[in-house]
Amino acid sequence: MSVDGLGKYEAVIGLEVHAQLHTKSKLFSGDANSFGSSPNQHVSPITLGHPGTLPKMNRKALEYAIKMGLACHSNIAKYNFFARKNYFYPDLPKGYQISQHTTPICSGGYVELNMPSGKRTINLTRIHLEEDAGKSIHDQHDAFTLLDYNRAGVPLIEIVTEPELHSADEAYAYVAEIRKMVRWIEVCDGNMEEGSLRCDANVSIRPTGSSKLGTRVEVKNLNSLKHIRHAIEIEIARLSELMDKGEKIVQETRSYDADRGITFSIRTKEDAEDYRYFPEPDLAPFQFTDEYIDSIKSSLPAMPEEKIKQYEDRFLLSVYDATQLTDEKLLSKLFDEVALTTTHWKLLANFFLGPVRSHLNQHSLDWNQLDINKMHWDTLLKMVDEGKIAFSVAAQSILPMMFDDVTTDPHEVAVKLNLIQDAGEDEVVDWVKKTLDAMPDKVAEYKKGKKGLIGLFVGEVKKISGGKADPRLTTEFLNKFLNNNN
Ligand code: ADP
Ligand code: MG
Repeated sequence: MSVDGLGKYEAVIGLEVHAQLHTKSKLFSGDANSFGSSPNQHVSPITLGHPGTLPKMNRKALEYAIKMGLACHSNIAKYNFFARKNYFYPDLPKGYQISQHTTPICSGGYVELNMPSGKRTINLTRIHLEEDAGKSIHDQHDAFTLLDYNRAGVPLIEIVTEPELHSADEAYAYVAEIRKMVRWIEVCDGNMEEGSLRCDANVSIRPTGSSKLGTRVEVKNLNSLKHIRHAIEIEIARLSELMDKGEKIVQETRSYDADRGITFSIRTKEDAEDYRYFPEPDLAPFQFTDEYIDSIKSSLPAMPEEKIKQYEDRFLLSVYDATQLTDEKLLSKLFDEVALTTTHWKLLANFFLGPVRSHLNQHSLDWNQLDINKMHWDTLLKMVDEGKIAFSVAAQSILPMMFDDVTTDPHEVAVKLNLIQDAGEDEVVDWVKKTLDAMPDKVAEYKKGKKGLIGLFVGEVKKISGGKADPRLTTEFLNKFLNNNN
């Protein structure tokens, strides 16, 4: 079996990601587009598909779809019309879905991934606009399936890749990147638990070296990154086993059961002909002008890839730090603001990505819920840079006070709490000697070659000095004593 393409088989994966656009109202009616209301609150006759009702286009949804297309370097179609996709399902009150078929609003384009093995470019086939279906609820009643039509008619974009991903890890990274992008340009909240972002994974395998596509299976409605990775891993393993046994792989639609860790067949795959697509007669075709598309282009923020480059060039940060700082737009925005007030950018990144982030996580706060940009960062960073206080002391003792009160002067606090590492060499030597005398067994082990114990000694000196021993001096003297007294 081959998960990474290095073995007998190569996996080929194409992904369809559905993102709900967070417009105020639905795609074709004034019903509210909101998650979490009681069932069937946002269901006008248009949403319910009553005879005689007509759809009306939501302009914001068009704008958001174009935004995503531009962010993905796609071509934007100037001439557009919708298509009617006919099928019967209880959650589809009209008996058809208004979608796009031959004329997606965006075509082509690509998304770039930073994988551990290097950069990967994933080409897109298209991004099209369509309406979401309602929701069938099977687990609230013993005998009946319940229907909630609040979601029916919510605008979706479907982002479709070429069949050119090759592992579950790539699929994970791709969807994580799409989630980051839709949040960055603020067209979708990217909330996978609430179903705002969902993914269908098409998976096939073929003998390594072959360029012909194998028969694919489609795993529907994966609603977390973990599920996406796991479902694809399972499918690659299952298909490889079938190939090994010489069994025929049938094109089918499958579902993933997270609890049981399996996928199971729900139907053999329908083809496009089964849907009897035809141009939607209730919505007139429409045309975008160049000016309109340009105005959307100029409203786009600098994208993460651009910010990453900026952070590398301007603040001399590693790609790793830069990538993390662009994880979320708010984080990046705050970093930009604070970075203007200091030149200790690497240390600032360490604080943001370490203690600040854990503080926010611990208290379930967003990056904009603390006045981080008003805190006296430069004073704090300078003290750490000059070795006057240890990073850990700053993080544990001073930072929390700055969070509580942004006017806190970190230097004053450090002096008041006696945290400044101003101990002279003599004092450090005393602490080092005391430490080593108290641990003869460990010293012996160290001398026998267990060099990792140096960390323990440094920690102990830090402890008995109350954080006042400069770690650089401490290490220097520890090395001197440990290596001389043979
Ligand atoms: P549909 O809309 O019927 O699901 P599409 O032709 O639009 O079918 O393809 C959907 C997705 O399936 C695309 O992401 C495409 O890249 C992927 N795909 C198509 N053929 C294969 C294959 N043989 N193996 C893996 N993925 C595939
Ligand atoms: Mg599909």
